[in-house]
Amino acid sequence: QVQVEEPVATDREDIAGIALSSGDRVIFPDAKVTKADLARYYRDIAPLMLPEVQDRPLSLVRLPDGLTGQRFFQKHPGKGFPDALKTVPIAESDGETHPYAYGSDAAGLVAAVQMGTVEFHIWGARRDRLDRPDRLVFDLDPDEGLSFATTRRAALDLRDRLADLGLECWAMLSGGKGVHLVVPLRRSVGWDTAKLFARGVATLAATAQPDRFTAEMSKARRKDRIFIDWLRNERGSTSVAPFSVRARPGAPVACPVTWDELSRLRRPAPFSLQEACTRGWADVAPPPPQGLTQKVIVALDRALKSV
Ligand code: ATP
Ligand code: MN
Ligand code: MN
Repeated sequence: QVQVEEPVATDREDIAGIALSSGDRVIFPDAKVTKADLARYYRDIAPLMLPEVQDRPLSLVRLPDGLTGQRFFQKHPGKGFPDALKTVPIAESDGETHPYAYGSDAAGLVAAVQMGTVEFHIWGARRDRLDRPDRLVFDLDPDEGLSFATTRRAALDLRDRLADLGLECWAMLSGGKGVHLVVPLRRSVGWDTAKLFARGVATLAATAQPDRFTAEMSKARRKDRIFIDWLRNERGSTSVAPFSVRARPGAPVACPVTWDELSRLRRPAPFSLQEACTRGWADVAPPPPQGLTQKVIVALDRALKSV
């Protein structure tokens, strides 16, 4: 008697080498985006995403049951974390060392999706030199009710202010309500200097134009203003990664934009998964890493004294 072995029934789909379960689970009901759609998106966007994301400690925003379920902001890989996501041990301020996840390939991103990840957030430093930030982020957070025209004008003005100090940046729509300006840094200063500098720039803008900007987080101070959130520039702080999907209605994507696009866009989060895949870095043209040199710091100091 011949025993016929049935193939094991499996609903797992191989995406970038990761066996994805429950691929047809709906994560974004309104945009009709499933878990498999998300996994394929991160596989396809990996070549655009990884240059900015790889080797940075990650925080993951996980929504295993989709947009309507619970969400977890996860800093430390827990039990059951897939091998495709690598880990780096990091000593924290409490003196203890904890593992952080970092991605280095498409499989790592897809493995995170397998665990319910929707959003990827990155440190401002890479794992080989965690004490030396290689990017400054100015996260422009508009008060409720401010138009996007106001926000994008503010971003362009802050870009000009940075240029006055001798620093070039690139812009990203966060996929939420605001804009992030990113200054690529040479790894020549530590977090204290980077944070102090970022605070100084935010303070400069807020002091020069207190009706438009605030450098303080408080909601009361933000009334009808834009909070220039400089607190992304601390050791251990994160900001949303370029090309991360956001866990918000419509499945918007955080996308780098050209200055020309920024000055024309009507809405803060216009890019879908499909649209994000048609984009690239070439036109955004991020400037090369720049030093927070004595010259730049003196320029900020002078500007602060003259407002
Ligand atoms: P928006 O443009 O709408 O402001 P955003 O991504 O800039 O979108 P913010 O609220 O300004 O959102 O920034 C939140 C930042 O704080 C994120 O970039 C994230 O990396 C970090 N963060 C720290 N803790 C959390 C948390 N528990 N949940 C979500 N984000 C967190
Ligand atoms: Mn923001
Ligand atoms: Mn913020």
